[in-house]
Amino acid sequence: MDVIQALTDAITTKNVLSSVESCRPYECDGLSAYREKPLAVALPDNVEQVKAVLRICKQYKVPVITRGSGTGLAGGTLPLKDGVVLGLSKLSEIIKIDPLQRIAVVQPGVRNIAVSQAVEKYGLYYAPDPSSQIACSIGGNVAENSGGVHCLKYGLTVHNVLSIKVLNMDGEESNFDEKDDGIDLLALMNGSEGLLGVIVEIKLKLLPKPEAAQLVMAAFHSVSDCADAVTSVLEQGIIPAGLEMMDKFSLMAAEEFAKVGYPTEAEALLLCEVDGSHAQVQTDAKRVADILSQKGAYKITVSQSEKERIALWQGRKNAFPAVGRFSPDYYCMDGTIPRNKLAFVLEEIDRLSGIYGLKVANVFHAGDGNLHPLILYDANKEGELQLTEKFGTEILNLCVDVGGTITGEHGVGVEKLNSMCHQYNTPELEIFHGIKAVFDDTGLLNPGKAVPTLHRCAEVGQMHVHNNQLPHPHLERF
Ligand SMILES: Cc1cc2nc3c(=O)[nH]c(=O)nc-3n(C[C@H](O)[C@H](O)[C@H](O)COP(=O)(O)OP(=O)(O)OC[C@H]3O[C@@H](n4cnc5c(N)ncnc54)[C@H](O)[C@@H]3O)c2cc1C
Repeated sequence: MDVIQALTDAITTKNVLSSVESCRPYECDGLSAYREKPLAVALPDNVEQVKAVLRICKQYKVPVITRGSGTGLAGGTLPLKDGVVLGLSKLSEIIKIDPLQRIAVVQPGVRNIAVSQAVEKYGLYYAPDPSSQIACSIGGNVAENSGGVHCLKYGLTVHNVLSIKVLNMDGEESNFDEKDDGIDLLALMNGSEGLLGVIVEIKLKLLPKPEAAQLVMAAFHSVSDCADAVTSVLEQGIIPAGLEMMDKFSLMAAEEFAKVGYPTEAEALLLCEVDGSHAQVQTDAKRVADILSQKGAYKITVSQSEKERIALWQGRKNAFPAVGRFSPDYYCMDGTIPRNKLAFVLEEIDRLSGIYGLKVANVFHAGDGNLHPLILYDANKEGELQLTEKFGTEILNLCVDVGGTITGEHGVGVEKLNSMCHQYNTPELEIFHGIKAVFDDTGLLNPGKAVPTLHRCAEVGQMHVHNNQLPHPHLERF
């Protein structure tokens, strides 16, 4: 018997796909430049079936690539041709809502926005809000430690998850809880990208909806003034509920798409949301507007109604697809830098854009220093994807060189393996491999993702030089 037959026997024919046509939707995630047909796709109905899939894959030594909604942007769910994609979208039950304790217990396939929709009647919501929230799953959010506009004030996924249930390749269950003593294994699982276990249940923290919120939109004639204004707002002790920046190209594309009244003559736009009690919001909105105009904003708009606030966000929330209308393809990068390096890094990206001859639109969570440069390219042009990848790697390396990191929220996946070699040295990478081995001694959970092999780092020659010492000195150079 082969693995497909064993899976079919265990979880029924309708839950196992293996033909070229039926596997097509699973051959990539949001990083669609990379594709592979998996050996099979397993779509279990319940946790018992997930356990069966894992045990069978272990028995047949077949890799397992766990998948939520497939909106990931780093190729984390890219299949292997000899691997099984374990799709969890049918595990989409909200198991429990407790408005008094302010918690929700959900299965991993529940969509992010569905949680806030389900608890709205209690005046509650789930704070982390990736722009993909209408589609992405809570399981995927935990595996990527996803962020969003509101994470500056309310924290990333890791700060809003109270406990999880995780399966290993034997189908055995472990619980990780914020109240556990010792090493914070719950935090470790947040951002583990499907390498350490399969998350099958999540307890989420819910927050009361703020009484009021107002959005301050500020237009600048210069990108560096706008970037500097970000630091000034935070230095004044204001923690905005969202602090987002767009460069000229992005705001122009967003306006053409969403028609929300963005000033298209501006070089850069800042969106700053404050929330809290009515009185606090009024005070903070005025303080923010004053700081921004002192820092050079030539036009300031403060939302006067909930309708206007939501409308002004629509441009930002649709910025990626809006930019996508200007090019056959775009590559969305994700790096994080210290906020005081924003202006410098943007200038550098602009310089590199000239050298590579590829246009870039910059959209980012400015408050967290999390950049999302979108590199526009045409995959049908010979060599342009490779050129784009090289450009993207330079941007990520730049983030590391100014004291930042190669990912803010999209994860490493297959996309940033080479940049991991730039950020981490040999002992650090060895620790990552050691942790992987403790949780998954079979090496079958999402192999080849997130943590590069030391040989790969030696081969690409992108190594973190620590204390002036060549990393991996024992490895052959290519
Ligand atoms: C238009 C657009 C906008 C986006 N905006 C944001 C944003 O603002 N912020 C942000 O953080 N991200 C954003 N993303 C990226 C993406 O939506 C997030 O990374 C999201 O959390 C992925 O969820 P998913 O269910 O689609 O996961 P998938 O893409 O299916 O999987 C992502 C990773 O998680 C692993 N995984 C999934 N489910 C599980 C599980 N149950 N157990 C173990 N491992 C699992 C997979 O193996 C893979 O490595 C955006 C994507 C798009 C397309």
